[in-house]
Amino acid sequence: MTTAFRWECRGLFFAASGRRRVRFSRVKILVPTSPQKLGGPFVTAEEGFHIIARREATAIIEFFDRPAGVDWFDEFELLFCAKQHDPETFKVIRKATDAERKEYRIPVWIQDEEVPECCGKPMQFVGQIDDDRLCGERPAGAKLWWHDAASFYVFTCAQCLACKAVGQQF
Ligand SMILES: [Zn+2]
Repeated sequence: MTTAFRWECRGLFFAASGRRRVRFSRVKILVPTSPQKLGGPFVTAEEGFHIIARREATAIIEFFDRPAGVDWFDEFELLFCAKQHDPETFKVIRKATDAERKEYRIPVWIQDEEVPECCGKPMQFVGQIDDDRLCGERPAGAKLWWHDAASFYVFTCAQCLACKAVGQQF
């Protein structure tokens, strides 16, 4: 499977579930019109994005509605941002790397988001295993088995430390 196909799946997912997401309307995003010119010029966005993960001085965001005048990333692509002097303003620095996606614990869903609950709350995402070989290792006598490529998402509970995995496939 290609990265592009995965992003397309992500896009469909977020487009479908956008209304459920919390809006952070107070936060402004400074978007350089070119990734080579981080000093500006900028387009300022106050909406059209989701903050996927946030740390003290950095954030990972995505635009579901890319601002006019910017064309160096696609909608639903993860972007690495740094907090500015104004604490509610972040500047897009570049596209987020795969390592950052893992470090910030952001799942790439194949199908719709499927976060299990425990102790009455959504569980915390730990990480995922992507596998396209398991489909060829069907155990003898198995009536159902995985096909093509599958991803297994591991979660834990912040209250009782229970663990749970969710599997999805194309
Ligand atoms: Zn629990």
